[in-house]
Amino acid sequence: RIRVHGLEKSFGDNQVLRGVDFTAEQGTATVLIGPSGSGKTTVLRSLNALETPERGVVGIDDVEVDFAALPAGKAGRAQKDRLRAQSGMVFQAHNLFPHRTVLENVIEGPVVAQQRTREEAVADARVLLDQVGLADKADAYPSQLSGGQQQRVGIARALALKPRVVLFDEPTSALDPELVGEVLTVIKDLASQGWTLVVVTHEIRFAEHVADQVLFLDGGLIVEHGPSAQVIGDPREERTRRFLKRIL
Ligand code: ATP
Repeated sequence: RIRVHGLEKSFGDNQVLRGVDFTAEQGTATVLIGPSGSGKTTVLRSLNALETPERGVVGIDDVEVDFAALPAGKAGRAQKDRLRAQSGMVFQAHNLFPHRTVLENVIEGPVVAQQRTREEAVADARVLLDQVGLADKADAYPSQLSGGQQQRVGIARALALKPRVVLFDEPTSALDPELVGEVLTVIKDLASQGWTLVVVTHEIRFAEHVADQVLFLDGGLIVEHGPSAQVIGDPREERTRRFLKRIL
């Protein structure tokens, strides 16, 4: 379960988050939508402490960080590391290791960061590669794959750490249009398998189909939230309506 309360974050004198609150239940998919610059990526990166908000609380299951009360130095870093370990992140571009095979990319985290045995990590990685439709690419190098395939390896790599939550930062925005569908299909499958997901995306139709909860962010605040049928299908707020009209 994810709990976010009162997140505030500025870059210089640009206040990007102005008090973001939401919760997401275990096994649900939450999709963040909103105009460019509204703070979506900053919210996502705060969930795993890649950004450090000035104020606010983020909790994932039994790990909670109160950013205003974060101790300086090592103790603060340790708290952020514990929070980070709760989630796996899939970025816009996959950033795979180019000189390692697909399989080696997927087992890197479990073996190096989690000290799992290579045999166990390999067995898990093969299951995950099968799940993202790349069982036959285990020994290929990233440069031999399409962008969509690379992004699916990125997803398998995030799942290999067995995180409580998987975070997606515009996972299809760097892809050619014809490759978007295969990546969204994999994310949809994860949602139906009961993973807890938070996805930042501009793909509104995808949000409509996959989200249990849609958050509409504008100007650093969640202006509207609810089931996708309500927020996307029948928005209550004028700002949500204007945004959807512009992009649909
Ligand atoms: P987009 O849809 O365009 O990706 P977004 O809703 O994800 O936008 P963010 O990436 O969270 O928005 O950015 C919100 C604001 O914060 C923007 O004005 C951006 O320029 C600013 N910002 C983000 N990261 C930094 C940074 N590291 N340093 C300075 N400003 C930043």
